[in-house]
Amino acid sequence: MYKLMRNRALQLFVNCFLVCVILSSMPVRSAIPFSAHRMSQLAQTFQSAQVQAALAWFKPHYGWINDEQARLTEIPAPPFAEAQRGQAVKVLLAAVGLEVHIDKTGNVIGELRGSNEKEIALVAAHMDTVFPAGTDVKVRRDKDRMSAPGISDNGTGLVSLVALARALHEARIKPQRTILFVADVGEEGEGNLRGMRALVDAYRDRLKAVIVLDGSGIDHVTTKALASRRIEAVITGPGGHSWSDFGIPNPINALVRASVRFLNTRVPANPRTTFNLGQIEGGTSVNSIPHEARLKVDIRSESEDELLRLENALRECMAAGVRDEMESARDRSKGKLEWKVDILGNRPGGELASDSPLLAALRAADDYTGNSSRAERASTDANIPLSLGIDAIAIGAGGNGGGAHSLQEWYEPTGREIGLQRALLTVLGASGIITEKGN
Ligand SMILES: [Zn+2]
Repeated sequence: MYKLMRNRALQLFVNCFLVCVILSSMPVRSAIPFSAHRMSQLAQTFQSAQVQAALAWFKPHYGWINDEQARLTEIPAPPFAEAQRGQAVKVLLAAVGLEVHIDKTGNVIGELRGSNEKEIALVAAHMDTVFPAGTDVKVRRDKDRMSAPGISDNGTGLVSLVALARALHEARIKPQRTILFVADVGEEGEGNLRGMRALVDAYRDRLKAVIVLDGSGIDHVTTKALASRRIEAVITGPGGHSWSDFGIPNPINALVRASVRFLNTRVPANPRTTFNLGQIEGGTSVNSIPHEARLKVDIRSESEDELLRLENALRECMAAGVRDEMESARDRSKGKLEWKVDILGNRPGGELASDSPLLAALRAADDYTGNSSRAERASTDANIPLSLGIDAIAIGAGGNGGGAHSLQEWYEPTGREIGLQRALLTVLGASGIITEKGN
C-alpha cells in the first residue's frame, strides 16, 4: 500500500510533535499577591511533624521509586489501551491504603478520605503514551540515566503520584479535603483529554483543586491552558488508472493544492498562533489515481478567536483546493471530488486566577523547597478544569528528562527529591491537613 509517509517512526515524530508547547513565561514570585497570613499558615502546616515525616520519606526510597518508574514504563500504554498499566497502578495505590476503583473511562482513582468529604483536591498523572502498540518500551539503564519511550512523559508523573500517596500513608497524614490520586487515560493526541473530561464530569461540584503531574523538571508551573484543535481533512474522488484515466480529478492533487494555500495563511506572533501539517496519507499504488487523501492538522493559539480564524481558513483552503483541481481536470465525466473536515480533538483554553489558593500553595511549596518557577501556558490535562473555572495547575515531578514523544526519550532522577517535595507540599497546601495534637 502506497503511503505518502510510510515510515512509522517518522510519522510518529511528526504526528506527536510538541504536545506541551511552552509559550510565555514570567516569574511567579513577583507577580502574585497572596496574603502574608495565608503564606504563613501554609508555612506552618509544612513544618508540622507529619508533613516533615512525609517529606523525609522520598530520599531513602529513591531505589524503589526509580525501579517502579522503570517497571510501569515497561507496561505498554498506547493510546486507547492503558488498561494493563492501569491494573499495575491500581495495585500500587491499594497497597498504601487507598480505596481504589477504575471508572468507565479507564481512570484509576484512589481515594484518601478527608475530614471534609464535600471538597476534593485531585492529583492526576496521565498513563497513556504517544507510542503505538508494538513499540519497544524496554528501559535501558546507563548509570543514573534511564532511557525508554515514555520514561519521563509520563513515567515520572505516574511514579510520583504513587510515591506521594505512599509518603502520605507512611506519615499517616489525614487531609481536610478528600484527596483523589488518579492515573488517568487519554491525555495524549487523539485521546483528547477524555480521562480528565470524565473526572471533571464526575466530581465537578466538589472539585476545588486539580494538580497535574506531567513529566520532569521543577522550573515551571502551567497556569494557562493552551487552546488547540486537531483537524482531519478528507478528500475523495472516483479514482482510476494513471494512464487511461489521466485527467480525472485527483484527491491527492487537490489536497496538495489546498495544503499549499493553507501554508500561506498568516498567523500572528502575538497572540502566538501555530499550525502543523502532521500527517498525510492516501492512495493505493503509484500507478493509480487515488480514491482518497487525508491530512491531519494541529492548530494552537493563545486566542480562541485566532483558533477559529485558522480553522475557517483551513476549510476555505480545502474548498479552494478541490475547486482548483476540478477546474483543471480534463475529464469530469467519471465523477467529482468530495471533501469534509472533521474535528478530531478540541482542547479548550483557560487561565488560573493570579490570586488562586492553589497558586498560593504552589508558591509556598516553591518557597519551602527554595525553588523558583515560572508560569507557563501549555496544553495539558489542566485545560479541562481551567476551561471550566476550576483551579488547576500542571507541574513536572522533578529530575531531568528529554526527548519526550521520541524513541530516544530519557530520564535522570538526580535531584528528584525536590520535585517530589514540591508536589507533595502543593497537594497538601491544596487539601489542608488535620494536625495531630502536640504538633
Ligand atoms: Zn505528558
